[in-house]
Amino acid sequence: MNIVVCVKYVPDATADRQFESDNTVDRVGVDGLLSELDEYAVEQSLQIKEKREGEEVTVTALCVGPAEAEAAVRKSLQMGADAGVHVIDDAIAGSDAIATSLVLAKAIEKIGQPDLIVCGMASTDAGMSVVPAMLAERLGLPQVTFASVVETQGDQVRIKRDGDTATEVVGGTLPLVLSVTDQTGEARYPSFKGIMAAKKKTVDTYSLGDLGVDAGSVGLSVAWTEVAETSARPPRTAGEIVTDESGSGAAALAEFLAAKKFI
Ligand SMILES: Cc1cc2nc3c(=O)[nH]c(=O)nc-3n(C[C@H](O)[C@H](O)[C@H](O)COP(=O)(O)OP(=O)(O)OC[C@H]3O[C@@H](n4cnc5c(N)ncnc54)[C@H](O)[C@@H]3O)c2cc1C
Repeated sequence: MNIVVCVKYVPDATADRQFESDNTVDRVGVDGLLSELDEYAVEQSLQIKEKREGEEVTVTALCVGPAEAEAAVRKSLQMGADAGVHVIDDAIAGSDAIATSLVLAKAIEKIGQPDLIVCGMASTDAGMSVVPAMLAERLGLPQVTFASVVETQGDQVRIKRDGDTATEVVGGTLPLVLSVTDQTGEARYPSFKGIMAAKKKTVDTYSLGDLGVDAGSVGLSVAWTEVAETSARPPRTAGEIVTDESGSGAAALAEFLAAKKFI
């Protein structure tokens, strides 16, 4: 069984994040890491492998991103993925979800015959939650998305999908695209053994040319949507203290909330 898990390299949410002058996110000049939400995708891929005892299962971590993005693949390997693929090409910078899904789909086709493609529920930087569905469409595969619980048996996959008012159980037959949420269970930390083992694992590097993707079909200049403006969030201001002077506190509080249109 071949599992491909899509892992995105994102700016560290706890670090100081910057935008470039063209309103794309600075992915090179800031600390980055494997998207926390994609750690759940790696974890579920590894759990599926572990539950399929006696079956040959390969988990390949796939990332599209700049040179630094290899760190996302390396972390996946340290967690237990068997192999890594990093698609790197200057022309990809600034790509929208449509172009990103094109490159991912072509890379998956080159990896060959995937039974299961596992994604996170969203990236932690752009958070569009559309790449898994676009991948399914491009690969002509069914999709089961936003899984909070994943079970596989033979070629059958069953997931639980929690909505606001109901939980659905959705089934599908492999090969398919799966996306998992942060409710699927803690992602493992790389062990010392895992970190050492990862050093011996290979990461294949593909360019757009290797994938047969025309450089003119990706990148910011052909993005279907444009981020028109970005601005840093204003610094936090000190809170307002409402003093309760002889029972006037509740009224003052209500006045404050009404002024801010909370009530
Ligand atoms: C500052 C900023 C500016 C942007 N400007 C534009 C713009 O002008 N026009 C525009 O259309 N878009 C823009 N984007 C969106 C950006 O291009 C997205 O990163 C891209 O569209 C992919 O969507 P997503 O990250 O939201 O993926 P999602 O759909 O949220 O990701 C879901 C899952 O898909 C997989 N995945 C996604 N990306 C990758 C990857 N690179 N490698 C491996 N797996 C992956 C992961 O498993 C992930 O959990 C901008 C984003 C930012 C932060």
